[in-house]
Amino acid sequence: MTAPRLEIDLEKIHHNAHTLVERLNKRGISVWGVTKAALGLPAIARTLLAAGVEGLADSRIENIQTMRRATISAPMALIRAPMLSQTELVVTNADTSLNTELDVISELSKAAYAAGRNHSVLLMVELGDLREGIMPADLEEHVRQTLRLPNIKLKGIGSNLACRCGVAPDETNMRELSSLADAIDKTFGPVISIVSGGNSSNLGWALGSTNTGRINNLRLGEAILLGCEPLHRQPIEGLFTDAITLVAEVIEAKVKPSQPWGEIAETAFGVAPLPANRGPIFQSILAIGHMDTDPEGLTAPPGIDILGASSDHVIVGCGKTRPKIGDEITFGLNYSALVRAMGSSLVAKKVLARPLR
Ligand SMILES: *Cc1c(COP(=O)(O)O)cnc(C)c1O
Repeated sequence: MTAPRLEIDLEKIHHNAHTLVERLNKRGISVWGVTKAALGLPAIARTLLAAGVEGLADSRIENIQTMRRATISAPMALIRAPMLSQTELVVTNADTSLNTELDVISELSKAAYAAGRNHSVLLMVELGDLREGIMPADLEEHVRQTLRLPNIKLKGIGSNLACRCGVAPDETNMRELSSLADAIDKTFGPVISIVSGGNSSNLGWALGSTNTGRINNLRLGEAILLGCEPLHRQPIEGLFTDAITLVAEVIEAKVKPSQPWGEIAETAFGVAPLPANRGPIFQSILAIGHMDTDPEGLTAPPGIDILGASSDHVIVGCGKTRPKIGDEITFGLNYSALVRAMGSSLVAKKVLARPLR
């Protein structure tokens, strides 16, 4: 079979999405299924919808176009602030976008008017992670200006944490977001219907808090696809962590010394750690490398250790399991390994198709 390849188990993704939707819906929180790590792969998008997500969300308009071309008509949100150069594509393909710049919202308004459509907007608020967001003190003015724009519907506010600086969602920053929603409604009448608290890193807070306040939406990608929470990379109870795996093929299998010889300088990817001297070991080379994935983000099966990697090779040490030439080895992936493999045209995507429910 084609290697390297991602194997995507739709049944497990359905289970993960459905479990999270149920747990969060009980707390009055809806879920948008984030497809960006899957490049908007229609099979995954349909699975998320069948599992009960309220809408789909992606950071790239191109991925949203992929899903539209596959005739998926569900509500879709662009969750990276739109480029000024893409406002027409945004209003014609996405129902909603997450915004922080009035110049962009103003162009979205013009594009929506020209297209004879309405476009919904969430204003993102900066709560400390220092990626996207309007400073809280400036939010009211941004709301005032947004409400004036034709063909733009202000739907609510949102925040995004734990992406640039690793700031964790907690009672304090989530209460601040709720208070901002209250303050806006007090000033402008009831305008805030969606308060989108964040991404997979919000799950610990959302499922543990005794008061989720006005937060009524989360945008979830990693937790659904990898069954893992991003703050401490712990598996989430009751979810599959192997819904997506990466399969690579063995192209060399030999006994070699465990340590290199000769004068040692840098490799193409910087200084390689000197391997411990364990005497001769059984080492195999897999036809996959930095071009295809993040080798550091792979988890090898029991009995196999990842020893090193270059652009097109991953070297593994094997104990009792001694793969032969042509054998395949299946790895687990973290988010970094997943997004790189998904984005590589040299990694096949094999969807293990089972019926949607
Ligand atoms: C990527 C992203 C998400 C989803 O993040 P996960 O950690 O995969 O759940 C949500 N919101 C925004 C703005 C994002 O960029």
